[in-house]
Amino acid sequence: MVIIMKHNASAQEIAQAMKRVQELGFKAHPIIGEERTIIGVVGDERPIEPDAFDTLDGVERTVRVLRPFKLASREFHPEGSVVRVNGTTIGTQQVVIMAGPCSIESREQLMEAAHAVKEAGASILRAGAFKPRTSPYSFQGMGLKGLELLREVHEQYHLPTITEVIAPQDVALVAQYADVLQVGARNMQNFALLHAVGQIQKPVLLKRGMMSTIEELLMAAEYILSNGNARVMLCERGIRTYETATRNTFDINAIPVLKSLTHLPVVADPSHGTGKWELVTPVARGAVAAGADGLIIEVHPNPAQALSDGAQSLKPEKFAQLVQDVKRVAEAVGRSA
Ligand code: PEP
Ligand code: MN
Repeated sequence: MVIIMKHNASAQEIAQAMKRVQELGFKAHPIIGEERTIIGVVGDERPIEPDAFDTLDGVERTVRVLRPFKLASREFHPEGSVVRVNGTTIGTQQVVIMAGPCSIESREQLMEAAHAVKEAGASILRAGAFKPRTSPYSFQGMGLKGLELLREVHEQYHLPTITEVIAPQDVALVAQYADVLQVGARNMQNFALLHAVGQIQKPVLLKRGMMSTIEELLMAAEYILSNGNARVMLCERGIRTYETATRNTFDINAIPVLKSLTHLPVVADPSHGTGKWELVTPVARGAVAAGADGLIIEVHPNPAQALSDGAQSLKPEKFAQLVQDVKRVAEAVGRSA
C-alpha cells in the first residue's frame, strides 16, 4: 500500500502517518518528492483496512499496490527515479554510457581502456576485479589488486567506476574502491548479496539473471530497496533461449516493460546480450530507441588478447563509432547521449 500525502502536508503530519504505519507493524518508506511525499507501507501480507490511514491529517488517499514488488513499482513512485553517480545522473533525458574491459588485467590495459572510453564520450568506467566465471579454470580476476588499479584510474581520469561484487563479505571492500556496485546475472538471486548491497548507500546495478523473468528481476530489486538502499538500476543483459546463433538473446521487450512497471532506471548491456562484437552497436542503437536510460559496453584495447569476453569486446575505434551512432538515435527519440 502507498499513502499519498497532500501536497501541503506538514512534516508533523508526515511523521504522524509514518508512526501509524509502524504501530500497525509495517515498515514505512517515505519518498520525499518535489510536489508531495508518498509513504510506502511494506511488511507481511496481513490485510490492512483500506481506511486505516485515510482519516489521518495530511493524507490525500491510499493506493493498494497489487503487484508483488512494491518499492520498485511505478504505483509507489510514479516519476522515474534518478540515480546519482558522482556528477553523473542516470534516469534523465540523457542516456549514460558506461564502458570498459570485462576484466581488469593490468595497469596498462586499464589505463588504455579508460583513456579510450573517456575520449569517446563514456561517463562511467566499467571493469571487473572479481569475475564470476562459468569455469573454475578461467581467469578469476585480479581481486584487491584490481580494485586498487580501478581507484588509481578513477583518480587519474576522473571517471566514476562500476565493478562487480560476488560475495556479501566483499561488499564493504568493493564499496571503498568503486562508485557503483554491480550484481551480476549469476548472482541476481543471491539473497545474502542482495541484503548486503541493500545495506550500503551506494548505487547498485542489478543485472537480470540469464534465466530470470522480469518479475523475478523486480523482486530481486525489491530485496535491495527494502533493505534501505534506494539507488538501484536494472540491467537487461540477455537471457538464455533455444537460439544458438548468439551467446544470449537480448530481450528488447524488457526495456519498455520495465519502464512501465518500475520507476528504476534501465540500463542495456548489448555486449553480454549478444556475445559478438559485430552485433553490439546495432543492438545498442535498438536499446536506446526502445527507451534504455543507459548502456554498458565492453571495450578492450586488444580484444584478441582479452582474458575474458574478448569476442564481444569492441576495439576503441568501434566504440567511438558506437557513441556517435547512439547519439543520433537518442536525438531521434527526444533524448541525448
Ligand atoms: C560482466 O559484466 O562482465 C558480467 C559477468 O556480466 P553478466 O553478469 O551479465 O554475465
Ligand atoms: Mn564480461
